[in-house]
Amino acid sequence: MSKEKVLVHACCATCCAYVLEKLESAYNPVIYYYNPNIYPQDEYRLRRNELQHYAAYKNVDFIEEKYDPEEWQTRTKGLEDEPEKGRRCSECFRMRLQKTASFAHANKFKQFTTTLTISPHKDSKTILEIGKQTAVLHNVIFLAEDFKKQAGFQKTMIIAKKENFYRQDFCGCMYSRRRKFTSK
Ligand code: SF4
Repeated sequence: MSKEKVLVHACCATCCAYVLEKLESAYNPVIYYYNPNIYPQDEYRLRRNELQHYAAYKNVDFIEEKYDPEEWQTRTKGLEDEPEKGRRCSECFRMRLQKTASFAHANKFKQFTTTLTISPHKDSKTILEIGKQTAVLHNVIFLAEDFKKQAGFQKTMIIAKKENFYRQDFCGCMYSRRRKFTSK
């Protein structure tokens, strides 16, 4: 019997590697790259290319959504000075998961999930809550997995090092990038 498809919102190869490993025994994962938060576009392309190559190597389908950073700016207007794990991040998660849930529904995926919970820098409780809310709105199932559990982050880092992935040292948006440079 063929495995059921799951749409996996993914932000980069490093975060996705262990998630794929975890899901592929029970599901047929399809990667969905929708990350309008990433700045600048060169950084967006770097992360996309690395993930796309890894998907091809793993023989996993890869879908890239339109890059719309202006829309992300509009959604996060007024939240520029929020700290990481604050309200800007919640809006950033919501925007990406809404698009993923909407794509899943429109393309007959019964379920979706996200790699975002694997990062120790991100609040899994908030991500899982937003995932469940967007699932209800779009009439799909959200696989509410906290991938950082059972040393998920450490496991994905082992794969990232072995595969020699490009690994960024800031979350993604211009504000997290700016903080990286000003904190040095
Ligand atoms: S710090 Fe990361 S999660 Fe928060 S708004 Fe920026 S890109 Fe999004």
